[in-house]
Amino acid sequence: MGERIDFRDGRWVVPDHPIIPFIEGDGTGPDIWRAARRVFDAVVEQVARGKRRIEWLEVLAGEKAFKQLGTWLPEATLDTIRTHRVAIKGPLTTPVGGGIRSLNVALRQVLDLYACIRPVRYFEGVPSPMREPQKLDVVIFRENIEDVYSGVEYKAGSPEADQVIAFLTERFGAKIRPGSAIGIKPMSKFGSQRLVVKAIEYALRAGRRSVTLVHKGNIMKFTEGGFREWGYEVARERFGDRTIPEADAGVGKRETDKVIMKDRITDAMFAQLVLRPEEYSVIAAPNLNGDLLSDAAAAQVGGLGLAPGGNVGDGYAVFEATHGTAPKYAGQDKVNPGSVILSGAMMFEELGWDDVATAIGRGLGGAIRSRRVTYDLARLMPGATEVSTSAFAECIIEHA
Ligand code: NAD
Repeated sequence: MGERIDFRDGRWVVPDHPIIPFIEGDGTGPDIWRAARRVFDAVVEQVARGKRRIEWLEVLAGEKAFKQLGTWLPEATLDTIRTHRVAIKGPLTTPVGGGIRSLNVALRQVLDLYACIRPVRYFEGVPSPMREPQKLDVVIFRENIEDVYSGVEYKAGSPEADQVIAFLTERFGAKIRPGSAIGIKPMSKFGSQRLVVKAIEYALRAGRRSVTLVHKGNIMKFTEGGFREWGYEVARERFGDRTIPEADAGVGKRETDKVIMKDRITDAMFAQLVLRPEEYSVIAAPNLNGDLLSDAAAAQVGGLGLAPGGNVGDGYAVFEATHGTAPKYAGQDKVNPGSVILSGAMMFEELGWDDVATAIGRGLGGAIRSRRVTYDLARLMPGATEVSTSAFAECIIEHA
C-alpha cells in the first residue's frame, strides 16, 4: 500500500512507497508517459532492490478529462495533487478558443509554485550548435508568479489603460503616449527572496559553486534592481556563513566551502552563457529573464527535446516535459521521451532519491552514446539507429 508524501519543518518526508499522481497528457503524452513510467519503475527497482516502489495514481486533465467528465480541468485533479503534494505531467493541449484555465496557471496559483526550475546540461552525442556544449551545466531558477507575467495588462485604448495613463500622467508627471497598451511589472522583496533562497538552498545541497542573480537593474532600478539587492541581502542574512559575494571572493579564487553570489545584467548574461558557460552554475532570475534564458540555454545543448522542468513551491511540486503534445505523432511510439524522463529524475532529486536521479541520468546518457535514439535525434546524429519511444526507454534502463 502506498503512502502520502508529507512536508514537515521545511523538508520532504518521503515514504518508501510514495503515492505520486500523474497526468499522462494529450497527443504523444501517453506514448512518452508509458515509456517514462517503465524507466522510473525499473530504475527504482534496480537501485532500491525492492525496498522502494512508487504507487502511481492517475489524475485526469486535458482531452482525456474532457471526454470522460466534460471538463478540461476537474477540481478533483487539483485536490488530489494538493493532497499528495508532488505530481508529474505530460504535455496538455491548450484548447483554442479561450475561456479555459490553463492547468499550469491553475496549479501555480492553487499550490503557489513560485520557482520554475530548469536544469540545462549536455548529453554527449547530442547535436549542438556549440563547439564545446559540455561546458554548459546550469540550473535555472525562474520566479514563476510576479513580474510582467502577473497578468495586470490592459489593451490599448481600453478605459483601464486610459485611466492608468491619466493617473500616472496627472499624479506623477509620467510621460506615456496616449492610447498606449499598459502592462504592470510588480516585483516584491518577498517574492524575489523566496526564489533566491530556493536557489541557494539547492546550490548548497547539490554542491554547486555559485548562484548568479540575473537582472536588468541598470535600467529598471526598483524592480530588477530590487531583485539584485534583495537577493544579495537574503544571501547575507540567511546564509552569511555559507555564501560569499563575488566581490569578496577575489578574482579567480574560490573559498572551498562557500557558494559564491554573483550578479549579471541580463543582456550580458546571454553573452556569458555562450562565451564563458563554465563560470555559471545556479542561476536565479525574475520571471521574464528566466523564461528567455531557459530556452536559449537549452538550445545551446541541443534543443528543447531533452529539457526537463519542475514547478516547485513550499511543500508542493509539479514536474513536466517542457515540450508540447506533438499531436501528429500521437500513438505512433515514435517521439523522444527524454524530457519527461529527465523531469522525473528532477522529481526524485527533489525528494532526496538522488541515487534514482543519478541512475536515470546515467541511463539516458548511455542510451544516447549507444546511438540507438528516437527519430528527432537519429536524423541529426551520423551513424545513429532510429528506435521507437519504448525501445529507447529499454535502452535507458539497460544503461542505468
Ligand atoms: P510541440 O512541442 O508539441 O511541437 C514542436 C515541434 O517539436 C514539433 O515538430 C514536434 O513534433 C516536436 N516535438 C515535440 N515534442 C517532441 C518529442 N518529445 N520528441 C520529438 N519531437 C518532439 O509544440 P506545438 O506544436 O507548438 O504545440 C502542440 C500542442 O502542445 C499545443 O496544443 C500547445 O498548446 C501544447 N503545448 C503544451 C505544453 C505543455 O503542456 N507544457 C507546452 C507547449 C505546447
